[in-house]
Amino acid sequence: MSGMQCKKCGSANVKKNGRTAAGRQKYHCKACGVHTTTDEAARERAAQEALMEQLHLERVSQRGIARLTGMSRSTIIKRLKKDLSTHRAEHDPTA
Ligand SMILES: [Zn+2]
Repeated sequence: MSGMQCKKCGSANVKKNGRTAAGRQKYHCKACGVHTTTDEAARERAAQEALMEQLHLERVSQRGIARLTGMSRSTIIKRLKKDLSTHRAEHDPTA
């Protein structure tokens, strides 16, 4: 994989344009002028996690989730645990 594509117009005519405060690479599309960050990895991870959660709700085994999402089982276990504790915290009246 080489280069970036503009998310808006699909042009490959994008130029690195510094970084955000969070350290994300920023891009400027010369074709349509849009400024964007490459949070593609983060988006991909979010999509994976959404899929993982959905499969988990469908009672797919962790092994099955690993196969379907391409995530490692240890990652899945960690994520699900974190997710559970997050939900618990949200519903904890003493929090
Ligand atoms: Zn563009």
